[in-house]
Amino acid sequence: MTDDRYPVARPSLTDLEERYVVEAVRSGWVSSRGPFLTDFEDRFARRCATGTAVATANGTVALHLVLAAAGIGPGDEVIVPALTYVATANAVAYCGARAVCVDVLPQSWCVDPAAVAAAIGPRTRAVVAVDLYGHPADYPALRALCRRHGLLLVADAAESFGATLDGEPTGSLADATTFSFFGNKVITAGEGGCVTTSDAALAERMRLLRNQGMDPRRRYYFPVLGYNYRMTNLAAALLCAQLDRADEIIARRDAVVAGYEAQLTDEPALSEQPVLPGVRRAPWMACFLVGPAGDTGSRDALALALDRLGVETRPFFVPIPELPAHHDPAAHCPVSVDLSRRGINLPTYPELTEPGVKTVVERVRAALAAVG
Ligand SMILES: *Cc1c(COP(=O)(O)O)cnc(C)c1O
Repeated sequence: MTDDRYPVARPSLTDLEERYVVEAVRSGWVSSRGPFLTDFEDRFARRCATGTAVATANGTVALHLVLAAAGIGPGDEVIVPALTYVATANAVAYCGARAVCVDVLPQSWCVDPAAVAAAIGPRTRAVVAVDLYGHPADYPALRALCRRHGLLLVADAAESFGATLDGEPTGSLADATTFSFFGNKVITAGEGGCVTTSDAALAERMRLLRNQGMDPRRRYYFPVLGYNYRMTNLAAALLCAQLDRADEIIARRDAVVAGYEAQLTDEPALSEQPVLPGVRRAPWMACFLVGPAGDTGSRDALALALDRLGVETRPFFVPIPELPAHHDPAAHCPVSVDLSRRGINLPTYPELTEPGVKTVVERVRAALAAVG
């Protein structure tokens, strides 16, 4: 056992975050109105090259808000990738709709547009693509497909703030895009989320539903069933500081991921995350696959050995059809299943210095040698 443990994630918080939060506290604007909220929404929309941003309490309700605003309900189907965080499928279930899981591509780990096309049926209303581990999905193909079938295209960009596809930032690549600002995401408010869109009517509907459905022109009159999905001005203060520092945070995270990839390239048991041409991936978490395709035990053995050496890791997500709430034994998603068994995340955070990365790499080598 070693004393110097490396967590898998850590937020980067400086005097600037402290200053903005103190300012919000002293102003008395701690709830769901305030200057940091409007500033955050304006700047986030601009950074994402999109019409507007609707801040929310977290990334899960951001997803639910889009789907609810689009009128998705019981009897509807929404196509999602099998390999994602559970929130993507949960948001569909909150609408009373069914999440139809399709496989991902080995080249991007994102949803396979051909599999989406094959899953479209008479009840399909929307597709939620996920930028898994910071890599944007194939939006040109998905946009064409959704346009042809009259479907809403939502991007779950919880993990891909800062990514671009052919120079266009996430947040502008689908009809609506959701973000998460949970403590381990690229930028954070502790808890927080956001939806970006250039569809003014959809944005207006989301603002209505976010605020309990209250008529903006008649206080305490609620024409529809809404939700309290608002973000606080305190969380927005944190996010304004994180936005000021976003380029620096992304550059430091990039350096960590690049350091792992450069130093571990000669390890035959590890393969790095593939990145398609035209893609600038967001450096959320360094990802590697352990062992050859089909391997089912090496990843967990490596994770255990690394934990003993003081390096925290994360296994990839469990495929959605294997989770009790979304159980679907008929789902055929072999790529998702294989990635789920072999994928591991290594510590990735801005304050992880070059010597820190080097130490983690040495421990990865020692752990790989130990587990054979
Ligand atoms: C983090 C995440 C979310 C939303 O997370 P919250 O914790 O609710 O902010 C949604 N989808 C994906 C893919 C995520 O990684």
